[in-house]
Amino acid sequence: MLYHIVTYGCQMNVHESEKIAGTLHGEGYTFCGDIDKADLIVFNTCCIRENAEKRVFGNIGALKKRKMTDAGLKIAVLGCMTQQKDAAARLKKKFPFVDIVLGANNLHLLPYYLKLNDKKNSVKIEEADTYDINISVDTFRTSFPNAWVNIMYGCDNFCSYCIVPYVRGREVSRSPKDILNEVNFLIGEGYKEITLLGQNVNSYRYEDCDFSGLLCELSKIDKKFRLRFMTSNPKDFSDDVIDAMNLSKNICKHIHLPVQSGSDRILKLMNRKYTAKRYIELIEKIYGNIDNALVSTDIMVGFPTETDEDFCETIRLTETCKFSQAFTFIYSPRQNTLAAKMPDIDAEIKKQRIGELIRVQNKITKEISDSFKGKTEEVLIDDYKDGYFMGRTDNGRLVRFKKRESYEVGDFVRIKIFASKSASLAGEII
Ligand code: SF4
Repeated sequence: MLYHIVTYGCQMNVHESEKIAGTLHGEGYTFCGDIDKADLIVFNTCCIRENAEKRVFGNIGALKKRKMTDAGLKIAVLGCMTQQKDAAARLKKKFPFVDIVLGANNLHLLPYYLKLNDKKNSVKIEEADTYDINISVDTFRTSFPNAWVNIMYGCDNFCSYCIVPYVRGREVSRSPKDILNEVNFLIGEGYKEITLLGQNVNSYRYEDCDFSGLLCELSKIDKKFRLRFMTSNPKDFSDDVIDAMNLSKNICKHIHLPVQSGSDRILKLMNRKYTAKRYIELIEKIYGNIDNALVSTDIMVGFPTETDEDFCETIRLTETCKFSQAFTFIYSPRQNTLAAKMPDIDAEIKKQRIGELIRVQNKITKEISDSFKGKTEEVLIDDYKDGYFMGRTDNGRLVRFKKRESYEVGDFVRIKIFASKSASLAGEII
């Protein structure tokens, strides 16, 4: 039997798709790159932003005709979109031809429901509030030489615009021992870059071990590998983490630190629990203490009641912080969140503001890229296409360079940078 998975959303979901694939391989399924040939199509959904949800509906709807003529085809919809209150029931009503609907915390139950579906042609919708960290599933990894490792699940922060705490449940952290075992295993398997995943890794805690303690433990692994982590909430980013990054030769000097807004009034409405001043101080501390550190961010424009002055403060913060990259979003209301009850602002204004923000950030990104010209950087090769390798510097810049026969994906190479585009660098192996 052949399966195909369509993944929406962030790295967290990409890794969850690897776990879904792992459970399917255990049942004798084989991956098929062509969705039209698959016997089982799995949609691993995301509900954090409205357009991801719209795409899911469009893609499921497009299968209706095929499902009518192909009795053997099974369709499963999984992920955080289906974990929303009543969402699974609504989905089954809108698309009755879907065979299986499971919430984000129940992905491991897919093989069980596939068997049940074979016998009864109907499926009970399962929901669970919190991820059970005792569940262990095989993972079919697809990102060599990078490997994702969950260190925690869920979120306790309830940012007013965000649906994650409602669909992913409360925070639970894995034990340092389990994480260490998994990382050691992956390095033994030849993986060269480990990314620790959590909605807010800085609030990781297991008994008396916090996030900086976990980083210190992982840094003791005496092998050549890179350690990255995401995502960080600025309110919990401690000096101890900065110290751990500074002292470790393995932890990469790149931090993704979503700021969302530069206006204290908006940050308060967002329930982010830091001010623009505190955020800028944190950035100064990072740049001042960690050599060659780069910071990327997420910024949202058009949050309810955002004024021109609020937006100007976001622009000022963006110019001050000199982000290497910013993922910019237009606010869209998410069901059952506090912000969804606040007065929305004009769509045209949102559009103008995001255009202006992208223009400002592109200029900064280009300046940072230009500053790499003439430097020599260590790059981990992580992809190959059309005669060129792709890889990243320690601090996260994408580099493209000509393939050489003696090297392969997973090798560390020294690259002399000779040109820069906005989002990437060009170089040659030396
Ligand atoms: S920290 Fe805020 S934005 Fe991030 S997942 Fe939690 S609630 Fe959502």
